[in-house]
Amino acid sequence: MSQELDPISKAIRIQTKKSAQNEHSTPLYLTSSFTFESAETMRAAFADEVDDNIYSRFSNPNVDEFINKMCALEGAEDGFATATGMSAIFSSFFALLKQGDHMICCSSVFGSTFTIVTKYLPRYGITCTLVPAEDKDAWEAAVQPNTKMVYIETPTNPQIGLIDLEWVGQFTKKHGIILNVDNCFATPVVQRPIDFGADIVVHSATKWIDGQGRVLGGVIVGRADLIKEIYLYCRHTGPAMSPFNAWVLSKSLETLDVRMERHSKNALKVAEALESHPSVSWVKYPFLPSHPQYEIAKKQMTSGGGVLCFEIKGGSAAGAKFLNALEMISVTANLGDTRTIAAHPASTTHSKLTEDERLSVGITPGLIRISTGLEKVDDIIADIQQALEKSAV
Ligand SMILES: *Cc1c(COP(=O)(O)O)cnc(C)c1O
Repeated sequence: MSQELDPISKAIRIQTKKSAQNEHSTPLYLTSSFTFESAETMRAAFADEVDDNIYSRFSNPNVDEFINKMCALEGAEDGFATATGMSAIFSSFFALLKQGDHMICCSSVFGSTFTIVTKYLPRYGITCTLVPAEDKDAWEAAVQPNTKMVYIETPTNPQIGLIDLEWVGQFTKKHGIILNVDNCFATPVVQRPIDFGADIVVHSATKWIDGQGRVLGGVIVGRADLIKEIYLYCRHTGPAMSPFNAWVLSKSLETLDVRMERHSKNALKVAEALESHPSVSWVKYPFLPSHPQYEIAKKQMTSGGGVLCFEIKGGSAAGAKFLNALEMISVTANLGDTRTIAAHPASTTHSKLTEDERLSVGITPGLIRISTGLEKVDDIIADIQQALEKSAV
């Protein structure tokens, strides 16, 4: 075929070279190391003259298949896969930053990312300024001569705020800063940050990429020169993805586009149903016209994605009651599953913060986050509605 495949087709068709068995589906390469025909071929592999596999901490056929599909989907030159999303994020910082460097980070980042940039990186002389996602003036004011990286999430967790990728891409280019985007909430079938100027994209593959709540994984893709640094850092420090997890995640990528289409469709319907509900003060979902950044959502996302949030009337007590009253929807610390999941950050993930600290990161007392699954949407809406009725305080 002369025509180059679309990234969606590549995520289905990219595959390891067939073995002598002529299998249709990729086999599992559960091997820690790889053998060589001779001292000379081994020497050439270690000298990087050929890209033969050496040891599964460096590379593995299953892991490479997953990386190649992710590169195709994100439009990236190269990538490296890691054991978890957090090891991908941490490695992208530690491989590219050094003592004396400064980074700018949107204030509403994932909890463990927040801990890394506020607690661990400063121990090594890497400082971070946190700025509110929507405040463009604050981004300009935060730039220092030693600013090396801008790190963002969009949509943000759990408030579903958006950052204008086109704007931030131009902002980082103008200042010569590396733009690093956590694209976990959107996935590459909904949003491709590299098209807007991102230099690297990181993922927790544990979420929508697996999509079925089975395995942990992470991946970093982007500019070849930056990935080379990250690869060397990871090759020596060892956050490698297991071949088994790579096999699972590579299979998942074959259905990512159809899954996200349905997740997004369901999420929009749930958001619309909640918007007119008397027990709900407000709903936030990128593809609801009431979202304050609806125009940005339309510009950079092909759908709204699977996550929405809303404020239940009655604050924290009503939020906890709501979780208890759910019959089908899961109460669990994950997102991006076939099964719909509800979370109440104020009484769980963010319960150790004071009320003021919670508000400063946008966590209101009655905030509920919904990760919309693939159940029939009428069942999802019915469960939410009956739980809302039981949680009036
Ligand atoms: C879950 C998550 C992570 C961390 O990923 P793990 O695979 O759990 O290590 C990072 N960023 C975002 C936005 C997440 O939702």
